Amino acid sequence: MRKIAILGSTGSIGTQALEVIEKNPDKFEVSVLTAHHNWELLAKQARKFNPNAVVIVNETHREALQEALSDLPVKVFSGGKAMEQIVTMDEIQMVLTALVGFSGLKPTIQAIKAGKHIALANKETLVVAGEIITHLAEEHKVAILPVDSEHSALFQCIKGESQNPIEKIYLTASGGPFRGFSLEQLRNVTPAQALKHPNWEMGAKITIDSASMMNKGLEVIEAKWLFGLKNEQIDVIVHPQSIIHSIVQFEDGSMKAQMGLPDMRLPIQYALAYPKRISNDFPRFNFLQYPNLTFESIDMHVFKNLRLAYEAMEAGGIMPCLLNASNEITNELFRKGQISFTQIADINELVMNKIQNQNTPNLEMLLEADFSARELARNSVNQ
Ligand code: NDP
Ligand code: MG
Repeated sequence: MRKIAILGSTGSIGTQALEVIEKNPDKFEVSVLTAHHNWELLAKQARKFNPNAVVIVNETHREALQEALSDLPVKVFSGGKAMEQIVTMDEIQMVLTALVGFSGLKPTIQAIKAGKHIALANKETLVVAGEIITHLAEEHKVAILPVDSEHSALFQCIKGESQNPIEKIYLTASGGPFRGFSLEQLRNVTPAQALKHPNWEMGAKITIDSASMMNKGLEVIEAKWLFGLKNEQIDVIVHPQSIIHSIVQFEDGSMKAQMGLPDMRLPIQYALAYPKRISNDFPRFNFLQYPNLTFESIDMHVFKNLRLAYEAMEAGGIMPCLLNASNEITNELFRKGQISFTQIADINELVMNKIQNQNTPNLEMLLEADFSARELARNSVNQ
């Protein structure tokens, strides 16, 4: 029995993780569930999975949640601090971080310090604080198990290869809804178009990031930290069918790829049950239904966010944190119709150019960098 805390249980990853857990009641038990605003779904989930405790981060919903669960022995807490504290609870063995953005950083740090293994969906945490997180994980002998499908693929490919250095990795990208668009065409796309991903159903923020290639940029930085790679070892290739989830090339030129239908329950289940594979009834891939698996290059002049991510990774220091923070703002402004699609990357670039980099940041410096980049991104609209 593995006891699991799910941070962000009401989201796309969170609900799919609960599906996996529900189908394997002999293997997993839910200790903690958390949500930001959606107290109604959180209450339903608590009723079904009977966790030790729930946390609703938005404090205004605490009473309603408490009331809804008053006949159950579930403890109810509220606020961001409560989420940071609850992950340290003794019984928890693994924390699935399925929050969005920078909000995942502090609870992930607390969970690692308390010796909990991390199933990491919240890639932004590794982007902003890769060095801090990887050092902490080493110090506390905690595993960081990737949930992101590409990184889960890479993780599965290097299993049993600890003697064999990686020469290079290829992160695959579907290309999103605007694959092959010119810069001109990109200027006029709408939030509704950007929210229609061809292959994956995900939360709103990552869906926009996928359309703008920021998601692939964040994943490049995520891969650097997860697999200890140099920048030039990480390549991106567009693969519109999303069947090959990523590829590792070893020093003899041999390549290993992990394949399967695009279904996030698979990498989620792999991380939760690691190192075991458990059987399931998910649909299976059929070669004859996909006679053509194709590959394309990506134009980093059009999809500037990917170039910015490589530049931020090269610069190191607080630069990835600045890019991430700016992108959290621009992503949201675009969704609200307040900026155009191409302004996302334009403002992200401006923020990276205007704020001075700082090397080897500690947590405090990252919090400050995050704050200043958000301010600057907001103030850069219409300039
Ligand atoms: P969703 O938006 O669907 O869900 C996010 C969850 O986190 C919800 O439970 C939400 O609560 C909660 N949450 C959001 N913001 C905050 C905050 N500031 N403080 C506390 N809780 C918060 O996101 P996804 O599930 O799509 O993504 C989660 C993470 O996983 C992201 O980092 C994403 O990049 C990564 N990921 C997602 C994939 C996917 O297929 N969805 C694939 C690969 C990676 P509420 O519902 O109450 O708002
Ligand atoms: Mg991914």
